[in-house]
Amino acid sequence: MSYQVLARKWRPKSFTELVGQESAVQAISNALDQDRLHHAYLFNGTRGIGKTTLARILAKSLNCEKGTSSTPCQQCNTCKDIDAGRYVDLIELDAASNTQVDNMRDLLENAQYAPSSGPFKIYIIDEVHMLSKSAFNAMLKTLEEPPEHVKFILATTEPNKVPITVLSRCLQFNLKQMSSENIANHLALILAKEKINFEPNALSIIARAASGSMRDALSILDQAIAYNQEKIEVDKVNQMLGTLSDEILINLLIAIADQDGEKLISLTLEMNEKNISFESSLEGLASLIYELSLAKLVPNYFEESSKKQILEQLLDKFTPEKLQLLYQIATIGKRDLYLAPDLLAGFNMTLLRMLAFYPAFNASRKETESASIAKEVISPKEQAVPNNSEGEKTFEFDGNWRELVEKLELGMAKSLAQESEFIAFSNRTFSLRLQPQHKHLSDKSYQDKLELALSNHFLEQIKIEITITAVETSPAIEIKKEKAELLAKTEKSIMDDSFVKELINEFDAEVVSTSIQPKTNGKES
Ligand SMILES: [Zn+2]
Repeated sequence: MSYQVLARKWRPKSFTELVGQESAVQAISNALDQDRLHHAYLFNGTRGIGKTTLARILAKSLNCEKGTSSTPCQQCNTCKDIDAGRYVDLIELDAASNTQVDNMRDLLENAQYAPSSGPFKIYIIDEVHMLSKSAFNAMLKTLEEPPEHVKFILATTEPNKVPITVLSRCLQFNLKQMSSENIANHLALILAKEKINFEPNALSIIARAASGSMRDALSILDQAIAYNQEKIEVDKVNQMLGTLSDEILINLLIAIADQDGEKLISLTLEMNEKNISFESSLEGLASLIYELSLAKLVPNYFEESSKKQILEQLLDKFTPEKLQLLYQIATIGKRDLYLAPDLLAGFNMTLLRMLAFYPAFNASRKETESASIAKEVISPKEQAVPNNSEGEKTFEFDGNWRELVEKLELGMAKSLAQESEFIAFSNRTFSLRLQPQHKHLSDKSYQDKLELALSNHFLEQIKIEITITAVETSPAIEIKKEKAELLAKTEKSIMDDSFVKELINEFDAEVVSTSIQPKTNGKES
């Protein structure tokens, strides 16, 4: 026996079988049962949520041989013929492929004749917004004075493109986007009827991937049945969809918290083998970190989750500050992923950066709490020797602030770094001075960016402290001075040039000093 696709096999045949459209179904049922029939209906909603299915059930309700009601008998020839798509007085037109006015004229001309058996001739026009203007006009005439025996059921994904003159003559129903939960529950029912085993989480993944469309969910489920053979499982569904499971992300974060670099790399190699997208993995990682951050604020945040226990264990391993830092690294890692030699390298480097930051964060916090930089100003020479008393990773800073600033990726914080005078570096804290006229640069957002750039550079959690006071020098001041010197030198060499002298003497020429541009080597700061 040939395989019948699930969407067709399990297409709802009655209003009660329709999932997630309770309010529209209620309104239509009431109208049918109270014999308040309208001659035109319009269903709008996103693709795959059941507009034409609803239209066919409505057609059965109108024409069932047992009489018009919200519960068609499903047994009579009319009900059976409509289900089988062979009922002569049900005319379905896909406006997307029949936009022309001629098609519409044919259809409407035919509408004048009485139905061959039942009480109504029913026209279902799908994607009605695609009709041309003249086709709409032709339809409007019939909508204004419809023959008693004609019912129009229009469906659209874009009601805003349907002319208001048409809209105003229809009874409108907005079909709701189905929740993932609704879809997953429905898939579970179908699998039970099909006698196919499944892991409930696998259905949630399929439902999320279908983003509100039952039709899409069912066709993914069709593929999953073909792919999984015995049982619909999370791993196989993820593999099929190329999505990654929460488990992998959770395991990555556990490996970071446990400082288990080996485990981390083996996980990424596994992901690489399974062709899991590294870009969406970084996105997923950022989302998970975001959720953990929310869980720090909201008690019982993971109460509903099937992974409650493991997520709460994970939560205990990170402080809110660490989560902030990891989030930054994940989003920056995603931004820069395509700059990496290859995607695996880019992904690994991002994770290794997370690994490198994890212990440093604790240490640097402890230090800043115990020692205040303001009290002990140390000369750059001394700072060149890193604080290694606790056997931590060492790193170098030779006191050359300007050179350091040039190496950093600063963006908006560049002015702050360039206008700042470097005073001291101790306990992973840079003490800086800023002129009162540049006070606006000490805005917290700039300070945060500068701290992050320094932290990224040294792979340590770095802090800065800014004092607003007069400064002696700064990278900006130095650069300005150098430019002025260079300009003076250039001016002098031009004035000394024999050809220029000749021009001045012979032709009364004048050198416009503002036009002189020194030739710079390399990039300008
Ligand atoms: Zn019937």
